[in-house]
Amino acid sequence: MKAAVVRPNSDGYVDVKDVQLRPIEDHEALVKIEYCGLCHTDLHVAAGDFGEVPGRIIGHEGVGKVIQVGKDVDNLKVGDRVSIAWFYSADGTCRYCVTGNETLCRNVKNAGFSVDGAMAEECIVDAKYAVKVPDGLDPIQATSLTCAGVTTYKALKEGDTKPGDWVEIVGAGGLGNLAVQLAKHVFGARVVVTDGDPDKLEAAKENGADVVINRHDDDATEQIIKATDGGVDASIVTAVSAAAFTNAVNALAPNGTLVAVALPKGDMALNIDKTVLDGIKVAGSLVGTREDLRETFQFGAAGEVEPIVRTDKLENINHVIDDMKAGKIVGRVVFDFTGATA
Ligand SMILES: [Zn+2]
Ligand SMILES: [Zn+2]
Repeated sequence: MKAAVVRPNSDGYVDVKDVQLRPIEDHEALVKIEYCGLCHTDLHVAAGDFGEVPGRIIGHEGVGKVIQVGKDVDNLKVGDRVSIAWFYSADGTCRYCVTGNETLCRNVKNAGFSVDGAMAEECIVDAKYAVKVPDGLDPIQATSLTCAGVTTYKALKEGDTKPGDWVEIVGAGGLGNLAVQLAKHVFGARVVVTDGDPDKLEAAKENGADVVINRHDDDATEQIIKATDGGVDASIVTAVSAAAFTNAVNALAPNGTLVAVALPKGDMALNIDKTVLDGIKVAGSLVGTREDLRETFQFGAAGEVEPIVRTDKLENINHVIDDMKAGKIVGRVVFDFTGATA
């Protein structure tokens, strides 16, 4: 079968080639992939940024149908549509797994990095960890919800977002765009979006943001505090900029929470006075659990969140990688495997 694999020299691109998967084990299922989105995390894997994994099949925004199940599998059957996410599996027994924090498991496996992923005609899944995609959810949109969608949904949960709260979404790119929709439609929050790109701010406004502010304005923080009558209750930082984190802290209202999602290099400056006197909380948020993903899919099926996606053919993947590196892609490019033959 055809698959996109990390090159021997981990140069940031992939080879599209024929790969033979091993037979499935008793607790596993085999999925015929329909669609798989390409994420910046895949680019990091292809470049060896998390450690080199030559030959690894990339892809963790996969959706497809089960075509075979192992003999111990009782939660999936042939024909079920499932997703393949970055959170591929965990040990299921440690203190994190048993307390609803399975994404923090020290024995976690990540699709397209520590195990072969979904950018291929077929993918093996650990059946208990493959979340079903509900009927009524477009499978192409589901690919983006598998990663960006669940990541922002989880971040809004970490921010303890309640109806009527003011939430700042820092960065109006792929993650920010979904965060705005979820904050408005699912959490009932009021939303202020900050970004340095006027076009992205305009798009955020069309997406439902109540207030948009250019982060390059000298008085951007003062503008946020004024517009929100005292600061925001939570700030979801999706911008890959350490300065954005620092600014976000300063725009928080007392008892506010900074939720760190993006991963810029370096440290954030945390004003200690502000943190202590205003009871500020800082939380990191990484993807989401299986239950978070189930909930995200339900909101997608209900039309509360609609990712921007377009499809392409697998043979164009290295061109798409170049376009992603150049920042030329709005939303997600999703590779279409439905025309392929195994
Ligand atoms: Zn991703
Ligand atoms: Zn665990």
